[in-house]
Amino acid sequence: MTEVTDVIVVGGGLAGLVAATEIADAGKRVVVVDQEGEQSLGGQAFWSFGGLFLVDSPEQRRLGIKDSHDLALQDWMGTAGFDRDDDHWPKRWAEAYVAFAAGEKRDWLRAMGHRIFPVVGWAERGGYDAMGHGNSVPRFHVTWGTGPGIVEPFERRAREAQRKGLLTFKFRHRVDTLVMTNGTVEGISGSVLEPDSVERGKSSSRKVIGDFSLRAQAVIVASGGIGGNHDMVRQNWPKRLGEPPKFMISGVPEHVDGRMIGITEAAGARLINRDRMWHYVEGIQNWNPIWPRHGIRILPGPSSMWFDATGKRLPAPLFPGSDTLGQLHYIMSTGYDYSWFILTQSIIKKEFALSGSEQNPDLTGKSWRMTIKRATNKGAPAPVEAFKKHGADFIVRNNLADLVSAMNALSGDNLLQHDSIKAQIEARDREMSNPYVKDAQVMNIHNARRYIGDRLIRTAKPHRILDPEQGPLIAVKLNILTRKTLGGFETDLDSRVFGADRQIIKGLYAAGEAAGFGGGGVHGYRSLEGTFLGGCLFSGRNAGRAAAKAAG
Ligand SMILES: Cc1cc2nc3c(=O)[nH]c(=O)nc-3n(C[C@H](O)[C@H](O)[C@H](O)COP(=O)(O)OP(=O)(O)OC[C@H]3O[C@@H](n4cnc5c(N)ncnc54)[C@H](O)[C@@H]3O)c2cc1C
Repeated sequence: MTEVTDVIVVGGGLAGLVAATEIADAGKRVVVVDQEGEQSLGGQAFWSFGGLFLVDSPEQRRLGIKDSHDLALQDWMGTAGFDRDDDHWPKRWAEAYVAFAAGEKRDWLRAMGHRIFPVVGWAERGGYDAMGHGNSVPRFHVTWGTGPGIVEPFERRAREAQRKGLLTFKFRHRVDTLVMTNGTVEGISGSVLEPDSVERGKSSSRKVIGDFSLRAQAVIVASGGIGGNHDMVRQNWPKRLGEPPKFMISGVPEHVDGRMIGITEAAGARLINRDRMWHYVEGIQNWNPIWPRHGIRILPGPSSMWFDATGKRLPAPLFPGSDTLGQLHYIMSTGYDYSWFILTQSIIKKEFALSGSEQNPDLTGKSWRMTIKRATNKGAPAPVEAFKKHGADFIVRNNLADLVSAMNALSGDNLLQHDSIKAQIEARDREMSNPYVKDAQVMNIHNARRYIGDRLIRTAKPHRILDPEQGPLIAVKLNILTRKTLGGFETDLDSRVFGADRQIIKGLYAAGEAAGFGGGGVHGYRSLEGTFLGGCLFSGRNAGRAAAKAAG
């Protein structure tokens, strides 16, 4: 017999949890189905760094950062580069989202017990002009407790609703079809997967042991993106970025498989901007993997020197942390799908952060004692030191000749000439004697250190790369790491999904990454960072509220 409820949410990630808790708060019954087991509740958000884009926050003000809604909107629009007819709803979402981030977002979270680490990070710094890509000021607010800290308030609310009988979880339930009658979505059907006690994030069994169907007045698709499915990433790879990379690593678990996107599209939903994706270029292979092809993104400070596979320094303004898409474009234009950082021990110690909750035990464990060591420690944080020691992409040597020959051996391409690398590093090192310089990357370093947050924990004191006192020298081979899907289902501001005929499909909503974080691509081409979790919060909330209302 088919079960009946008020609203169905497909996906127990952050977007699904937010939507479901809003529905239960409105007094409606909601069923959350997820193909994974209960141990993976929270989806990608659990693994995330918990970075949130906030505008003109008390944390920013305490650090002397002057931010405003208008500045943030200017940055967002310059970054998104909306240029298509299909950008109508994404642009409206962007305006609404920036207002949310400058308005009630922080207080709404705070009322649920969410807290923020006081030093605000500066991601995607751009380097073009004021109307171009990038954050004019630091805006990346790390959740105290990282990913688990952002999931926790919503899981708590969901468990309360479960106790009240308003919310039901159906784990190991994989949706295979959206059930439609006369163009209206009326439910879902799918397969029950065998129980699997595999650890969170690891690939779980896909063995089917039964089937199920469920009916409701509304279905919210919150099934995430495609980053764990490299075939789909390659299919969607845009021509403007050349050929897709031959080698990629995965920044997301395997359940980010894109399958539900195909199912929803087959039901008539309009998928837009599928060629816009957000993959990182500073990926390193995890020596201690959780999911298949597990890669970690380095969140780099501004000082490492960046070379392409042939040994040429990346052109300005493509410095670490400036413009992810610009870097990807440049790297793919070299004909190779990797690049190199060359840096010193002094730089790695202060400037390497690794994205992911498990890579930041101090912040994730909410330990002030451990976190303070970021500013005072002799070495890099323990997870970074572990990568230096065990990571397949790390080389540590006492002199440049040995470093370059080990880099050639690691890539197997033998493209790097010691003399050319040496000349480029020496030229940059000569620029270190004055606080005013010609080299744009060194200018950037001086600029960064004028922000107290960077000076404290993010930007090494300027020094010569070849100064043995700052050594040893370190090279890191950087791979392309899949992560976010920027396009998605076209939705209005109530997260209602449009059909191929541009009419709303009755009963169907989409939220989170499946909806391009709102509207079918709230980011346009690029992100300012910390905007993905925020996009899940905002679109999940809108979807939940609207679906609850529609469920009468
Ligand atoms: C390591 C890491 C670091 C990150 N750091 C940040 C950060 O600092 N700031 C930021 O803003 N963002 C960050 N992100 C991105 C952010 O975490 C994700 O974009 C976001 O959590 C996606 O949430 P979602 O709910 O849309 O999808 P997901 O978390 O992918 O959840 C979707 C759920 O749907 C389920 N599902 C899929 N298909 C089906 C189906 N057919 N039937 C049933 N269930 C299905 C899946 O099993 C999954 O549980 C990070 C991501 C990672 C992995």
